[in-house]
Amino acid sequence: MNQNLISIFAGVGFGAVAALVNYFLAFELYGSVTILLGQVFVFLALFTRGLLSALVSTVIASVAVYLYTDNSFFFVTLAAEVIVVWFLFKRQVPILLADLIYWLIFGMPLSFWYLPTVIDVPTSFLVLVLAKLLLNGLLYTALAILLYQLTPKTWRNITMKPVPDSLRGRVFYLSFLCIIVSSLSFSLLYTVRSAQQVEQQILTDIGSKANSLRQVTDDFINTYRVAVRNLRDSMRAIPSYPERLELLRITQESYPGFVSMLLADADGRILHGVPARQFQVLQNNPNTPPDITDRSYFYQPKATGEGYVSSAFRGRGFGTQPILAISEPFVTDGEFQGIVEGSLDVPELVRLVRRTDIDPDYQSVVVTDNQHQVLFASDDLRLRTLGHFEPTTRPNLYTQNLPLTQIHERDLLFTQRLNTQGWNIYVFSSPELITQLFLNNLIILSVFLTLIAILFAFVTRRFAQELNRPLEQLAEQLRDNTDSPLNVSSDEMTREVRTIADNLTAARQLMVNFNRQLQHQVTEKTADLEQLNMKLQKLAREDGLTELLNRRTFDDLAEQRYHEAMATREPIALILMDIDYFKQINDTMGHPAGDECIRCVGQLLKAHFERRGHLCGRYGGEEFAVFVSGVNDVRKLVEDFQDALATYCQVNGQVVPMTMSMGIAEVRQTYGGGSFRRLVAEADKLLYQSKDTGRNRISIQSN
Ligand code: GH3
Ligand code: MG
Ligand code: MG
Repeated sequence: MNQNLISIFAGVGFGAVAALVNYFLAFELYGSVTILLGQVFVFLALFTRGLLSALVSTVIASVAVYLYTDNSFFFVTLAAEVIVVWFLFKRQVPILLADLIYWLIFGMPLSFWYLPTVIDVPTSFLVLVLAKLLLNGLLYTALAILLYQLTPKTWRNITMKPVPDSLRGRVFYLSFLCIIVSSLSFSLLYTVRSAQQVEQQILTDIGSKANSLRQVTDDFINTYRVAVRNLRDSMRAIPSYPERLELLRITQESYPGFVSMLLADADGRILHGVPARQFQVLQNNPNTPPDITDRSYFYQPKATGEGYVSSAFRGRGFGTQPILAISEPFVTDGEFQGIVEGSLDVPELVRLVRRTDIDPDYQSVVVTDNQHQVLFASDDLRLRTLGHFEPTTRPNLYTQNLPLTQIHERDLLFTQRLNTQGWNIYVFSSPELITQLFLNNLIILSVFLTLIAILFAFVTRRFAQELNRPLEQLAEQLRDNTDSPLNVSSDEMTREVRTIADNLTAARQLMVNFNRQLQHQVTEKTADLEQLNMKLQKLAREDGLTELLNRRTFDDLAEQRYHEAMATREPIALILMDIDYFKQINDTMGHPAGDECIRCVGQLLKAHFERRGHLCGRYGGEEFAVFVSGVNDVRKLVEDFQDALATYCQVNGQVVPMTMSMGIAEVRQTYGGGSFRRLVAEADKLLYQSKDTGRNRISIQSN
């Protein structure tokens, strides 16, 4: 199948796993950093199948991230990450460094620009979010590189090794990655854990403060409610009006919270008020409204017959400070007679709240009444007393359990309580404790990782050297190429290298022995071959029975001599001879005897001619040829031979008398013009002539 198609399928597979992991195993860290471990598989696609495959899986993995975070931004950053890492890797940048470069140069600036447009991240926290993105990226890249080592080779169709080739590089990179992965995971988990603890701490802290404030405000109101009720009851029990007024005065004076108190009749007319001086001023003021029927502290008790606590408002008689009115009705026989009212000073509440234990660096408090009017607010919040305040909850990036709001653009975590009056008690805490924690952890982690990286660079260099040195020494010795055993006595040698050296020595010895044996055999065989060759040459040149030259060799050599003689004008002669009636010898004595006779003729030819430097050959069955040169009286030479032959051959101790017919073609004068072939033909003709004329003759012709 087409490799591109396989890569796309692989990308879909890796992408599916990545998507599943991204969706189901994603865990939300504080600060909306989702740890996307699924990206490990996107990188595996990149390492094993290349860019196309990785891009396919990125798209699938990003869909899961989109579903999880509702944020399409990851389509861009994750794809960009894969492309940039690929690009840098092709330029020899190690993967982890490439990913670091991506996040520093592209990923973090891109997120810095983009994130605030989709989620409301305060700038202080944005830095942390970016740092977490970087750590996240490094974590899954490192994990992918480690996992790559475990992937089957058959998955790979490209040579994208994320780990260097050299031993030192590998040792450094892989062990450094192990440390990075473990320390990053540990630090992320640890950060989450400690953030949870801090959150819990904040939660209990501001929770208990809110509880005690609820108690304080409840107590505050109750004290004054009881005071007003008691006053009403006491007044009812005292018939004397002046004494009643005196009781009113004493009550107001003994409760510092009451700025003023008044007594009104059933029609809402103020009968009396304290402090008396201020009441006088009030009565003399023509602008003072004639009655208090419009005030809730009047018409509420009138309507219900119950005591009443108003929400906060500004006074209009005894002063204009914010007050809370507490009133109790006088009811006699079911008929409403009027009210007694005490105006509670809100600043008195403020004084009380201030006395509770609030950490001004991190904590603030707001108390609002049942109308959400501010009764108390810590100064740093800059909220107006009686101003409306209701916190709006915002998406919380910092914590999981505490709601977050903003006051004057300040992010604040808060908790809320409702007291019996329906007042809201808010205690706020700055998220700085948590961001500070993240930041501290981050700084510690970066310092730690930097130190580890430096340490590892040194240690692994040493380590790789330690590993390499014995091997280098071994290689050096092997280069010498002597058969002396390898020296592995030095302290630097490791057990494994010593074993290798022993095996190598044994192997080398085996090889040397084998070489020697081989050399010996080759020499032997060469000698045999030479002998054989000589034999072959001899066989090719000679006739086996007589050991005379065979016809072809004789012709070649004789022709050479013929030409030399033609040049030097030396007399030559070609003699062809044939044994007479040889058939009879065969017939009477048998073939082996015939053979013996032929060999015997050969010997005589050698003795008679060859010894004198002439060329002899067996020309066919019982036919021989002799080429003589430099002989003046050839006839004499041949006759001597014939004489010797007559008694020369013996078979089984018996002389076999033999005669031969001769044809001799001589050249003594006419050098040039002829040829060796013609010489042969001439001698042959002369031989036949000798045969025809009775055998045992010499026919000679000289040119
Ligand atoms: P001529 O005087 O006419 O030469 O009579 P001849 O019998 O010698 O002539 P012919 O050519 O008819 O016969 C030659 C015989 O020599 C025939 C063959 O059997 C015999 N002969 C040829 N080569 C060998 C050999 O190597 N060994 C033996 N034993 N006989 C041979
Ligand atoms: Mg013959
Ligand atoms: Mg013959």
